[in-house]
Amino acid sequence: MADKRLAGKVVLVTGASRGIGAAIAKRLAADGAKVAVNYAKSEGPAKEVVSEITKAGGEAIAVHADVSQPAQIPVMFAAVQKAYGRLDILVNNAAIMQRGFLKDVTAEDFDRHFGLNVRGYLLCAKEAAAVMPKGGCIINIASAISRMAYPGSVVYSATKGAIDVMTRVLAAELGPDGIRVNAVAPGSTRTDMNNASSGKTKEEEQMEEQMTALRRIGESEDIADAVSLIVCDDARWITGAWIDVSGGIRL
Ligand code: NAP
Repeated sequence: MADKRLAGKVVLVTGASRGIGAAIAKRLAADGAKVAVNYAKSEGPAKEVVSEITKAGGEAIAVHADVSQPAQIPVMFAAVQKAYGRLDILVNNAAIMQRGFLKDVTAEDFDRHFGLNVRGYLLCAKEAAAVMPKGGCIINIASAISRMAYPGSVVYSATKGAIDVMTRVLAAELGPDGIRVNAVAPGSTRTDMNNASSGKTKEEEQMEEQMTALRRIGESEDIADAVSLIVCDDARWITGAWIDVSGGIRL
């Protein structure tokens, strides 16, 4: 049972209608935070996340924005301010991953991935930093893939490499304002992004299990519980960190 260590805090999680983002929204709500659940297309599932949170005694709202569209980002932050009047924690999570070897990569693939996975994170961090009080915190959901050289993922991996650098630069830039910025890097985690529907084969899954020290694929809750540790005040001296949450992949 989670304690209420985030009581009084307001959190925005991007891409929280499914997968890792939904698990983070639920976990931080269980920690006592009021949570804004962002979605782009999946309104029904986002409302279901809100309903699960409220049924469990928490507080949440669904906020729409396609984070790859710069004009929609300030509108989403304004909706959070209108509902809760403050923002303490931003979890940049919404991202896409399309597999592709170099020979198949197009300029459109590049722009689509960078427009959401990097520019989306950056513009959300900008809006958040403008309103966050001292003690605020930004989590960038990165990926273990940026340190793995995984063939067939060059564009996606490059976006996650950009997030690693952005995290350190923003930690340095926002630290004097009392805002922490950290990257949480999942390894292979069972979600829509990473299952048979996204092209993952049974053999690849078994190989990934064997690559982890703990010998299994991660679950969204494994990532959410780690985020809960990093956003709380006990982690007040942690900033600019890249936190491996992969079950020990390729140690
Ligand atoms: P997922 O299952 O595909 O879910 C993606 C979420 O992002 C959905 O809620 C989706 O909502 C939302 N989203 C997509 N495009 C959006 C947009 N333009 N604007 C706003 N929201 C958008 O992905 P996941 O596996 O949970 O991944 C979450 C994060 O973990 C990502 O940053 C990913 O790179 C990272 N990660 C995942 C794994 C893994 O193995 N799964 C490993 C390492 C890192 P809508 O349907 O409403 O668009």
